[in-house]
Amino acid sequence: MTYIEEPHSYAKPNKAVITHLDLDINVDFETEIISGSASYLITNNDASEIILDSKFLDIEKVQADGKDTNFTLGDFDEILGNPLTISIKKDTKQITVFYKTTNKTEALQWLKPQQTADKKAPFLFTQGQAILTRTWIPIQDSPQIRLTYNAKVQVPAQLMAVMSAENPKEKTPDGVYHFKMKQPISPYLIAIAVGDIAYNPISNRTGIYAEPSLLDKAVYEFSDMENMVASAEKLYGKYAWEQFDVIVLPPSFPFGGMENPRLTFATPTVITGDKSLTSLIAHELAHSWSGNLVTNATWDDFWLNEGFTVYFEMRIMEALYGKDRANMLARIGRQDLEEELEGFKDAPEDTKLKLDLKGRNPDDGMNSIAYDKGYLFLRTLEESVGREKFDAFLKSYFQSHAFSTTNTEKFIDYLNENLLDKNGITFNTAEWIYEPGLPENQAIIVSDKFEKVEKTVQDFVKTNTIDQAITTGWTPQEWVHFVRNFPEDMSVEQIKTLDKTFNLTNSSNSYIAMVWYEQAINHDYHGNNIDKNIEVFLTQVGRRWYVSTIYKAFKNNNKTDEALAIYKYARKNYHSVTANTIDDMLGYNPE
Ligand SMILES: [Zn+2]
Repeated sequence: MTYIEEPHSYAKPNKAVITHLDLDINVDFETEIISGSASYLITNNDASEIILDSKFLDIEKVQADGKDTNFTLGDFDEILGNPLTISIKKDTKQITVFYKTTNKTEALQWLKPQQTADKKAPFLFTQGQAILTRTWIPIQDSPQIRLTYNAKVQVPAQLMAVMSAENPKEKTPDGVYHFKMKQPISPYLIAIAVGDIAYNPISNRTGIYAEPSLLDKAVYEFSDMENMVASAEKLYGKYAWEQFDVIVLPPSFPFGGMENPRLTFATPTVITGDKSLTSLIAHELAHSWSGNLVTNATWDDFWLNEGFTVYFEMRIMEALYGKDRANMLARIGRQDLEEELEGFKDAPEDTKLKLDLKGRNPDDGMNSIAYDKGYLFLRTLEESVGREKFDAFLKSYFQSHAFSTTNTEKFIDYLNENLLDKNGITFNTAEWIYEPGLPENQAIIVSDKFEKVEKTVQDFVKTNTIDQAITTGWTPQEWVHFVRNFPEDMSVEQIKTLDKTFNLTNSSNSYIAMVWYEQAINHDYHGNNIDKNIEVFLTQVGRRWYVSTIYKAFKNNNKTDEALAIYKYARKNYHSVTANTIDDMLGYNPE
């Protein structure tokens, strides 16, 4: 294949490319260092060197076909790290890099026992997306690369290691674990977690890994996983990765979920006891097709991963729980998009689906535009061509691109050829993808339930009273919509009345709590000990979307000092991707 030039990797895969990894590492919780070797099978197109990406790694030595060979570490770049250039011969089949991680390694988060649910053992997890895998494994770290891998991992004897691969179901006595990922994946999907964890199956191909005290709750919460896989397969073809497990991580995990193949990494904040936030699992499962099977070629094409995944997520939710629930979720995304567009009003370029992130951290593109504008584009397209044709198109798109990468331009060609031209349909694809903001033709997402919620807010603002019977049976999504739609001039007395009636300050649902805290900050509400709750939430939870929403509310209300007072000590509990975002937002310099 031919690789396109991309701005976030030093690799030159058209000259020499890795095809398989054998990883042999030791995970040391005392020093918080991973050390060992990464050995690659390579395909060499007549080159005298192969270039890997590396960042904050100690490279000890490099071998080509078992013999020491020369290597150089090029100049350091803040975003990309260093190119690791290795001398090879025309017939070199294998290279091996002996290395160690350092205390700057961005992918890894090492947690002390007190930062876990059970507080008994330390924990480690990685986050590879977008370009962090190079901070724990020297690798050609472009999503265009696909490789299989085997790993041998040594961890302390009482702990279990799991990876985005075939996984153990029980601990081994000696702490040595062997892994195999036989389908080719992109480097950002290589992942590991180590801790005191146990496994419980849900079906013969789905199940949960979690710390023992969380396991039963998680199994109950995600009991629909097998049904989700079955509905997804019905929509867009066979699940390609055999096993679909989820590991519930400690609360500092920076995302809702990360779609590491065979083993989704998930935040514990979606465990609510009522299965109300499980669309997250539908989302990560959908990535088994959009993202993991058909992968964005560059981070400028990130909307191909996320827009398709949100669309697919909504279809799984609709198939399992009906249109009402799916439309509520879609409306929440619509409001997120509205707010994101407003936030980017001085940077309209960043509201295009196809981005230009050259010279920037690809993490900058990981926002609601890729997800929710991407979704709206696909939903509008679906409504224009009809669901039957659209589903057939998507199914063939996933099948024909399985285990490969694609970019926006190739997708447009495929769309024209296989859906639009074929059916004589004109559609403003280019405007949706290459122009900022939103085109005129947008699918209108209607939710009767949300209209009732909006009326409830308006009535309350007028009358200062609220009939509790109206809210009986509300789903968390209705509560979230209720709280997010408080008018700016709602009085603090009114906020207080609502808190007295519904005790929202002490909501056990993390999503409702998060949007309520945001409104409390916006409206300067301090009753019911809410300030303490906000502080505890920000200290324990590291999910970037949640904590950045709350810090942003402080900042927008000229309360950056209050935000910093909490952030200064909460920061140590955050993974680097969350800390980087909040450092930027609050203008905090950790040095
Ligand atoms: Zn996603």
